[in-house]
Amino acid sequence: MPLRPIYLDAHATTPVDPRVLEVMLPYFTEHFGNPSTNTHLYGWEANAAVKNAREAIANIINASPEEIVFTSGATEANNLAIKGVAEAYFNKGKHIITVATEHRAVLDPCKYLETLGFEVTYLPVKSDGLLDINQLTAAIREDTILVSVMAANNEIGVLQPLKEIGNICHNQGVLFHTDAAQAIAKIPFDVAAMNIDLMSLTAHKIYGPKGIGALYVRRRNPRVKIASQLQGGGQERGRRSGTLYTPQIVGFAEALKLGVGAMESESKRLFKLKKQLWSMFKSVEGVYLNGNLNNSLPGNLNISIEGVDGSALLLGLQSVVALSSGSACSSTSTAPSHVLTALGRDKKLAHASLRFGIGRFNTPEEIKTVGENAIAVIQPLRQANNY
Ligand SMILES: *Cc1c(COP(=O)(O)O)cnc(C)c1O
Repeated sequence: MPLRPIYLDAHATTPVDPRVLEVMLPYFTEHFGNPSTNTHLYGWEANAAVKNAREAIANIINASPEEIVFTSGATEANNLAIKGVAEAYFNKGKHIITVATEHRAVLDPCKYLETLGFEVTYLPVKSDGLLDINQLTAAIREDTILVSVMAANNEIGVLQPLKEIGNICHNQGVLFHTDAAQAIAKIPFDVAAMNIDLMSLTAHKIYGPKGIGALYVRRRNPRVKIASQLQGGGQERGRRSGTLYTPQIVGFAEALKLGVGAMESESKRLFKLKKQLWSMFKSVEGVYLNGNLNNSLPGNLNISIEGVDGSALLLGLQSVVALSSGSACSSTSTAPSHVLTALGRDKKLAHASLRFGIGRFNTPEEIKTVGENAIAVIQPLRQANNY
């Protein structure tokens, strides 16, 4: 078998952990029943598996099981949260606040709502990627119904102050949604203590399967209403129709349990690997860290390199390492990353960016190999650019 490049793209997706796959397998074959069927054993088995998974997921975020709505992932959860709240609360107001550095799965539903007459404020961020709490407070109006701020950024890993944001929203009577796709199982979550009203999750960024995620929807203090965006069989208490995907749900819960169980030690290990990689790049002139080394996801390192193009660098490294320039989700476009430009990085530097996503199966030896190879290709590329 030809040698495969080292995988350092954990923000795009992660492999399914073999322990997760193992618990999923019986639900494809023997226990294949429809969880909504209550007339026979096959349905009961599947229903029990979904019930257990739902309880486990709810427990981990300090929610109750009825507050978990399974979706196909974080994109759908974000759409359900934002459009679902907009549709349920438009009589109260038509103003939404979000942040310029959000994922497309938040920004694009907001843009869509603007075409329907909603007003959206896109808060800027400081050069470290954090929003300004005073600006958030000032942006809240009489007709604001929702604030949506991501927990951890998918490009630069920066962690927003969720608890502070939750407090402000709670005091102002505005709903607070957070996209926690990157942050879950990396930082602790408690939806009660953090005053989170809606939270989007996905399994495939935490060593679970693709195609499954969830939206947490608060049921008490306040009881949050969402308008369903998928009508049909009435699953998930009418909030999201469609036959529940038992193997994926079981795998999602297992992935979350494993991730949270090892969170503390794994965070330390990943942070060490990140510092190892950054210490190699730091010694090269014209290399900048995007975001903040400490207040970010432990496995995230995003850098800009003067005098080279990120995609040329990736091309030169493709046999050694699999990673992204900017955001994987916008890798089909040649526009500079909207996140890096929001930090105030000029367009040239935004183009010359690399996003390293260090994950569960990476080793210090791999980090060394990647760092050495990356540094070795910088100089020739700069020379070719007459830099
Ligand atoms: C990956 C990601 C998404 C999309 O999640 P899917 O489950 O792939 O739909 C949304 N938001 C953030 C922050 C992400 O990193």
